[in-house]
Amino acid sequence: MSADTDTAPAAVVAPARRTASPWVLMYHSVSEFTDPAEDPYGITVTPRTLEAQLLWLRSRGLRGVSVGELLRARAAGRAAGMVGLTFDDGYTDFLTQALPMLRRHDCTCTLFVLPGRLGVDNVWDPLGPRKSLLTAEGIREVAAAGQEIGSHGLLHQDLTATTDETLQQELRGSRDLLRELTGTLPEGFCYPYGHLDARVVAATRDAGYGYACAIDPGRLAGPYALPRTHVSQADGAARLRIKHLRHQVRQLGRGVHR
Ligand SMILES: [Zn+2]
Repeated sequence: MSADTDTAPAAVVAPARRTASPWVLMYHSVSEFTDPAEDPYGITVTPRTLEAQLLWLRSRGLRGVSVGELLRARAAGRAAGMVGLTFDDGYTDFLTQALPMLRRHDCTCTLFVLPGRLGVDNVWDPLGPRKSLLTAEGIREVAAAGQEIGSHGLLHQDLTATTDETLQQELRGSRDLLRELTGTLPEGFCYPYGHLDARVVAATRDAGYGYACAIDPGRLAGPYALPRTHVSQADGAARLRIKHLRHQVRQLGRGVHR
């Protein structure tokens, strides 16, 4: 590990809160399934659906990139045609299904992983199938393939319901573990369940992250509460187009938008 990995990454975005947010898509798992009952939270798309969605993006002149790359490009004024791609939780199917597809379509993404749950499964979900999570080696493989690794905390806890001490462990502990694991300090954080409040946002910024992803952060939207669009198995071209338009409409009045 080189010495410069101990240096926190520079903030990649301006701290202003009333700025438009980029379009960022949220995925979780990519695997074959036929019965919707196998996917009670709507977090799985089949490889074929992911491919169709990536092709739709490309047909619109858009290319999926990691959130870190997207924000750096925006800061430099060259983010036209970029959309953020994120995959939460770090399932093993990312490596076997999503990564080859992303490479085929010249896209990158941010994978938000849980270094406190390496090689186990989604024990936090009371319903649905157990889905295995990447091991340390698997995460290193994803990072070596040029994808951004971000933190999803240690254990997938609702951070708005934790003590200050646990909040610090989840934010700083996961960041340190990922640095040990990949050799690089993660720049991005992703709030488990998309749950956040002012205390959690401030603690995330203070822990040294450069940005954080939410789902629908409302008035807290900003670099540390980036809204994301949930993409599901049901999202064909028409629905994706509506979701893109909805995002653009929501950003109206929030400053420059792309
Ligand atoms: Zn999650």
